[in-house]
Amino acid sequence: MSRKYNFCAGPASLPEAVLQQAAAELVDFQGAGLSVMEMSHRSAEVVAIANKAEADFRELLNISDDYAVLFLQGGASTQFASVPLNLLGDKSSADYVNTGQWSKKAIKEGKRFADVNVVASSEDTNFTTIPAVDSWQLDKNAAYLHYTPNETIGGVEFLWTPQVDVPLVADMSSTILSRPVDVNQFGLIYAGAQKNIGPAGLTMVIVRKDLLGKASAHCPTMLDYQVAAENDSMYNTPPTYSMYLAGLVFQWLKDQGGLTAIEALNRRKAEKLYGFIDASAFYANPVEVASRSWMNIPFTLANTDLEKQFLAESEAAGLLNLKGHRSVGGMRASIYNAVPEEAVDALIAFMKDFEARA
Ligand SMILES: *Cc1c(COP(=O)(O)O)cnc(C)c1O
Repeated sequence: MSRKYNFCAGPASLPEAVLQQAAAELVDFQGAGLSVMEMSHRSAEVVAIANKAEADFRELLNISDDYAVLFLQGGASTQFASVPLNLLGDKSSADYVNTGQWSKKAIKEGKRFADVNVVASSEDTNFTTIPAVDSWQLDKNAAYLHYTPNETIGGVEFLWTPQVDVPLVADMSSTILSRPVDVNQFGLIYAGAQKNIGPAGLTMVIVRKDLLGKASAHCPTMLDYQVAAENDSMYNTPPTYSMYLAGLVFQWLKDQGGLTAIEALNRRKAEKLYGFIDASAFYANPVEVASRSWMNIPFTLANTDLEKQFLAESEAAGLLNLKGHRSVGGMRASIYNAVPEEAVDALIAFMKDFEARA
């Protein structure tokens, strides 16, 4: 077996140690005589797996008892509807910041349920910047402010947290667990699992408990955060195997030294790749320096005719999924937690060699 380096934006690379443990336990989980996949979600084993996953997730992010942690389904895209359905309460409007393709999708879905006020947009720079915060047209009567801390497609990341007077809601799908964050500054954080957590479909929600219990009368039971919280995320059959795998990833992160250690590693990986791109006349990254993502690094080639060749040769060299998103073009290297530093080194070596031959 030989594992290749996977730079996919999502579903993304998982730690090899996690996959190895899952493989070893797949058929017979720790002597139970059956797979986790085959166990009742009410069984002592699965309840213990879920409890440990939640406890480790809380420990990693230092989440207080003021917050509920939910293991949900449907991906981050379902949260685009769940957020307004749960948080609007007796208000009618919500504020949204538009910094890219995922913001736009959240806004589009939000409009089905709320009067959406787009307080700021960076569309005029083709989403390569974050609008200056003093230009945001905030409404103090908004039910919440929604933003996307890391735009996975454009490679734009907030390396700071907006300070607002209404509950702050963040789609952290592609940045969660990449570095420490002060959860207390947020009303709600959600994240699809397939970037930094585990298998696609599983969706994590961290919600301040005082925001629970305000779901609209039209909110489907399965989307009601309070129902999920009251039932320990087991109102229906939860994605048990995905929760197990997420739990292995949380344990792996703790073994790496937690989020402070992962932050140092991620900073080094990103600085190496941006440093190389900036020093080269052949490659370029379009994002303003202060807003560059640590997780998703788009880059272009000076000669776009060489893109196909770049992709074919990088794939042959064991560097997978470097094609940029269809809406942006060019290349994109996603270097999430589970992408090792050696993968970044190998990518830079390949890029250097390709440039020399171009
Ligand atoms: C991947 C991603 C999504 C979509 O997640 P799904 O699980 O496919 O619904 C939403 N927002 C961001 C920031 C993402 O990176």
